[in-house]
Amino acid sequence: MHAVVCGAGIAGLTAAWWLDRLGWRVLVVERAPALRDGGYVIDFFGSGYDVAEEMGVLDELRGVHQEVLGIGYMDAAGRRRAGIVYDTFTQAVAGRVVRVLREDLVHALHDALPDTVTVRFGRTVDRVTHHADGVVVRLDDGTECESDLLVGADGVYSRVRALAFGPRDHYVRPLGLRVASFVLRDDVVRDALDGEFRMLALPDRHAGGYPLVDGRVAAVFMHRAPDGKTAGGLPRDPRATLSAAFADQGWVVPRLLDACPPDAYYDYIAQTLLPTWRAGRVVLLGDACQAVSLLAGQGASLAMTGARQLARHLAEHPVPEALKAYEEGLLPRITAMQRSARRSTAWFVPGSRLALTLRHNALRLAAMPGAAALLRTAVAPTPHAGVRTPTPTR
Ligand SMILES: Cc1cc2nc3c(=O)[nH]c(=O)nc-3n(C[C@H](O)[C@H](O)[C@H](O)COP(=O)(O)OP(=O)(O)OC[C@H]3O[C@@H](n4cnc5c(N)ncnc54)[C@H](O)[C@@H]3O)c2cc1C
Repeated sequence: MHAVVCGAGIAGLTAAWWLDRLGWRVLVVERAPALRDGGYVIDFFGSGYDVAEEMGVLDELRGVHQEVLGIGYMDAAGRRRAGIVYDTFTQAVAGRVVRVLREDLVHALHDALPDTVTVRFGRTVDRVTHHADGVVVRLDDGTECESDLLVGADGVYSRVRALAFGPRDHYVRPLGLRVASFVLRDDVVRDALDGEFRMLALPDRHAGGYPLVDGRVAAVFMHRAPDGKTAGGLPRDPRATLSAAFADQGWVVPRLLDACPPDAYYDYIAQTLLPTWRAGRVVLLGDACQAVSLLAGQGASLAMTGARQLARHLAEHPVPEALKAYEEGLLPRITAMQRSARRSTAWFVPGSRLALTLRHNALRLAAMPGAAALLRTAVAPTPHAGVRTPTPTR
């Protein structure tokens, strides 16, 4: 059996590993010239953590774990108003969590791939032709391959989805917020973080940083933007847009803005909503079909869960039935998580001073003994996607 996987992100690399494990020949095509670096620190736990354990990549992830004390919400004068201690969260998931840069997870998954998987960078899928038992996939260099399955793991703005399901505006739902992230080295900022992931919390705007173990800082900006309700184009220069959105703000924000590179990760906080994830021998995976958004905090974990589930069904059924079982097993649960993430938008970036105060008060209550489980649900709803113990076939 042969599969083409479009996208060497978290979903695509995990799928490639599992399909190879089932004895499939796998070609991964990635549009970027190399693995995409950049992004934020992920709280990696839940069913994706279990999948990482099955794949044997946990040790590598523990080696790049980012230790922080918790989250702190700051005011413009640099005073800590409220926060969460991570110990409570770690206990709530029985210690089964690592905090890693997104790029470290991508590299760990890539390192785990056996030589039998071919990865072609700087390539994408140009055309797909369906026939009864498979697909002919034409790449943008003109080469064609006959394949049993095309996996679209190419993120929120998936090309495979566009080819098989139609224009992205039908499926991408921005939640009215944008996110930017990049890494910088600045000891003044680092001192101000005092070992915590700290954010200046203003109505409709948050900005701050995450202290990394190597001395750098991962900066994060989130802001409400009026055109964020549509999936139209983003401004080319995130730095100018962020500077306008965060003009005249105090604490470490001016230093973060000064350090923002022109190619910082900058995107809508968005979900992908589709009534089905398969069309013939084409199937979608990860953010291409099931983005829950940054607000649910589990895009990476869910992407790996989806890849594992797909492989499990392919091990047990012929391709069409496997794709159906994969979709039926996961889509309803993802839909429920997406609904919950939409409801929590106002919790993550409150729209008024009153709403901010209410959140700070809620966090103070949650810091009281016994509130850990409640807090955990509020901060990041559990995905339990029902991953079974694996039965590798080779
Ligand atoms: C550089 C980067 C930084 C990110 N930073 C953040 C962040 O700060 N906050 C946040 O909430 N989420 C971020 N994300 C998204 C987050 O990684 C995903 O939500 C999650 O990991 C799900 O993974 P995925 O593999 O489905 O999608 P992704 O991680 O988006 O991976 C998709 C992969 O497909 C590739 N690709 C895209 N289009 C094509 C194409 N036409 N042909 C071939 N390959 C293609 C991309 O280059 C990428 O490697 C980031 C994604 C990327 C790529």
